[in-house]
Amino acid sequence: MDPTEKCSRCGRNAKYYQKSSGRYFCDKCFIFYFERKMARTISKYRLIEEDDSICLGISAGKDSLVMLYGIYQYNLKHHQENPIIGVIIDEGIEGYRLEAVQYVHRFMKKHQLRFNLIETSFQEHFGKTLAEMVGIIEKNDLNMNPCTVCGTIKRHILNKVAMQKGATKLAIGHNMDDIIQTLIQNIIRNDLDKIGKNLPHKSSELDLNNGKKKKRYFIPRIKPLSRLSEHEIIKYCQFKGFNPIKELCPYSLNYPIFRRRIKNFLDTFEKNNHEVKYNLLNIHYRLYDLLKEQNRMEPQKFNYCESCGQPTGSKRKICHYCELKRLFDV
Ligand code: SF4
Ligand code: ZN
Ligand code: ZN
Repeated sequence: MDPTEKCSRCGRNAKYYQKSSGRYFCDKCFIFYFERKMARTISKYRLIEEDDSICLGISAGKDSLVMLYGIYQYNLKHHQENPIIGVIIDEGIEGYRLEAVQYVHRFMKKHQLRFNLIETSFQEHFGKTLAEMVGIIEKNDLNMNPCTVCGTIKRHILNKVAMQKGATKLAIGHNMDDIIQTLIQNIIRNDLDKIGKNLPHKSSELDLNNGKKKKRYFIPRIKPLSRLSEHEIIKYCQFKGFNPIKELCPYSLNYPIFRRRIKNFLDTFEKNNHEVKYNLLNIHYRLYDLLKEQNRMEPQKFNYCESCGQPTGSKRKICHYCELKRLFDV
């Protein structure tokens, strides 16, 4: 960026150029823009409302820190009485998560974020660490990706803890890049049903009795960073003086996955087409509205898992989580 450029809003020296809009920002105006955009996403999609009890799924990465800071500030300003809890899960990856837990405590103290942080683990809930499961996968040459195993177990634990704590919303730090990667993934896999479940808000009640009675099995997940790009989140951390843990999970490097190929493709494409990610996000919202109009937002048919009793796909006898339990003999 040309160092002589001025902020499009206040005229001070610019520190960030937003290619998609052609605007320049100084650090203060960028922070203002960023926080307002997040707050507008929360209010527009009613991600947090009065009387909500919010559970934050936390790691020590950039998205997570920005989300917990943003939600805490938003809640303080608009819904002071709403309780907040955080949950951090140790997957059991050698030398990876322990530092993160201590880091999140320090971050909360430094920024005066006062809420209860629950620390739990795969070992405690599932009975095995991720490292042990990867060992089994490798030893038996199973065609499985650690991230798929990890994601299934983590979602299950987060939902379970949030339910136990009486939360009404489960906040996840997915950013715009994550969301459009998932969109492309679902399109490539021809999975229309999943497209409707990927936006900032989602209904999590399954209609179990011909529309007369609804029972809640899953806490609605909210994604307050869904309109903010990964690049914007990195800049925000820099301007706010947040120093998220940069260490990557070892499995993210060892196991090349479909999603990473989509990410690389989108990042390359964006270099010459600066609006591509915003356009994809916007078409995603339009698809979501169309699906909603057609009542395609929830699975029409499902089975109850024979093992845990929770709803699962119509062609399945046991859910993915219980399937993993059987596979890993726990
Ligand atoms: Fe889990 Fe994969 Fe993330 Fe590592 S990179 S924490 S295995 S989802
Ligand atoms: Zn400015
Ligand atoms: Zn089950």
